[in-house]
Amino acid sequence: MIGASLTVVVPCFNEAEIIREVHRSLVESLATVCESLEFVYVDDGSVDATLDLLRDFCRADSRVKVVSLSRNFGQEAAQIAGLAAASGDAVVVMDADLQDTPEVVHDMLERWRNGADVVYAVRTRREGESMLKRGMAAAFYRVQRRLAPFDMPLNAGNFRLMDRRVVDTVLAMPDRLPFLRGMTPWAGFRHEPTYFRRRPALKARKSKYNLRLSAKVATDAFLSFHATPARFALLTGVLLLALAVLALPLGDAAARMLGGGSAGWKIVLVAFLGVSGVQLLAIGLLGEQLGRVQQEAVGRPLYVVKERLGFDASTVAGADSKGDGP
Ligand code: UDP
Ligand code: MG
Repeated sequence: MIGASLTVVVPCFNEAEIIREVHRSLVESLATVCESLEFVYVDDGSVDATLDLLRDFCRADSRVKVVSLSRNFGQEAAQIAGLAAASGDAVVVMDADLQDTPEVVHDMLERWRNGADVVYAVRTRREGESMLKRGMAAAFYRVQRRLAPFDMPLNAGNFRLMDRRVVDTVLAMPDRLPFLRGMTPWAGFRHEPTYFRRRPALKARKSKYNLRLSAKVATDAFLSFHATPARFALLTGVLLLALAVLALPLGDAAARMLGGGSAGWKIVLVAFLGVSGVQLLAIGLLGEQLGRVQQEAVGRPLYVVKERLGFDASTVAGADSKGDGP
């Protein structure tokens, strides 16, 4: 047993079917790992009985805290809400479907005790996930890693342990489009991986992420953590413009060789379309980035807490929303 306090943060969106089993398994596996243990469940605007069940856990066990958000704000925001409510010296963030195996937390704590500030879980195998999802995840991690201005590990999800210093740093970051997998490496400190086999979710539970939602998280991550994505469009634009200029004489030569006038014009037309496409792409990317700048500037709180359960009055003062602005 480690002489420190641990908080386990679990974002939950419509998990009524399995949350009881998840909670039982977490309690069973973690009851004796630390001197003091706290669970912070964040209900992310569930429309099923999740909140009622969480209330039951809270009534039955003083180690359970519940933060209920006023609507669905998304996993990333819900995780930050959980971090803001966590009091532990170390905080673990994990999914509510036991895909993130609680036993891995033991290893994370061991590494933390030996000096790591962040222990992130790397998936060695993703069971029960489609080829398409695995392929998309692999592409996402590779592009992120290549472009991120800091070391972003491959195949590490949100499942991670963070030292209090890292939690406080993340909470001090004013991001309105939070992305924990980017924020923790950005925060710095000592990072260590731990490897685990990601299990299939319980009871053939379907992922909450459809293609649209995954694409949104990927774009947010991509555009929030790289200085100038527009630079990419700009460079491609310059390259294609150069090609388009070359295409003119080449187009004529091709037309002469083919003995007709039309082939050259086809090439010019293709080049014209290509260049227009690139310009539109560049404008689109700039627009995306401007939209995000605008969102940051407006400074809306990241989430709104509807209700807090199981906290004593002194710990909640001023913690109802993150960064209300000056
Ligand atoms: N989740 C959430 N808000 C959302 C979507 C998901 O809090 O809008 C939670 C969900 O309850 C789960 C975690 O985020 O605890 C990860 O979701 P899921 O397991 O469906 O994602 P995947 O395993 O596909 O990454
Ligand atoms: Mg899952």
